[in-house]
Amino acid sequence: MLIILLGPPGAGKGTQAEKIVNEYNIAHIATGDILRNAVKEETTLGRKARQYMDQGQLVPDELVVEIVKDRLLEPDCTNGALLDGFPRTVVQAAFLEQVLPDIKARIDRVLSVEVEEGELINRLTGRRICCDCGASYHVKFKPPKVRNVCDQCGGDLYQRSDDTLETVKERLAVYKKQTEPLISFYREKGVLSAIDGNQDIDSVYKQINSILKDY
Ligand code: ADP
Ligand code: ADP
Ligand code: ZN
Repeated sequence: MLIILLGPPGAGKGTQAEKIVNEYNIAHIATGDILRNAVKEETTLGRKARQYMDQGQLVPDELVVEIVKDRLLEPDCTNGALLDGFPRTVVQAAFLEQVLPDIKARIDRVLSVEVEEGELINRLTGRRICCDCGASYHVKFKPPKVRNVCDQCGGDLYQRSDDTLETVKERLAVYKKQTEPLISFYREKGVLSAIDGNQDIDSVYKQINSILKDY
């Protein structure tokens, strides 16, 4: 099973991904999480990626496709994978088409999570992330039980440096220009399902589940 979660920053991809991978027992591949880890660990990849991420720009395709190629070959992907935040450009999507035969996989569904722009800004500027497990929270919409402490692992919560209003606006513009064209790319391939992401977390998941249960 290979599923792609497509949608603007703040649409709730990471939040829904957590639920999907638990229920369907597939690997969660979030390029943003992998890149943030590399930045934290100060690896060669992290040093290259940091400047782009800080400015709300996409990391160059050639760096990102290498990450995904290696990741898809790891043993936990044999039961399937959920791609969260990849592909984000037409070049990345074309790359994925190329490697799929090598790993004997095909894209089952692309879930396009659609959310109004004002709501995206509210979600992103109130987002908090666990520094240990990466789980995401929201100060109003999904507060942890104890302030600034992760429900799942007890880790401290922090605000991502790119979740400021200025960088959020840049990321939304980048999404429109570079990622939104993928919606028609996958619609033409007949694998796209639109999800109304404006609803609460459980209602969004219900829509997703009703589509995925057939695969
Ligand atoms: P993405 O991975 O698409 O950038 P996240 O899953 O990190 O998005 O969600 C962005 C923020 O919005 C987080 O703070 C999250 O808790 C919150 N959020 C996610 N889904 C919803 C929803 N359906 N309603 C309200 N807030 C949500
Ligand atoms: P969000 O879901 O909130 O947009 P992510 O965690 O997916 O954020 O990504 C954070 C940043 O990591 C992006 O702004 C971009 O700089 C980089 N990034 C993540 N995935 C990709 C990708 N597929 N291609 C290029 N850059 C990426
Ligand atoms: Zn945690």
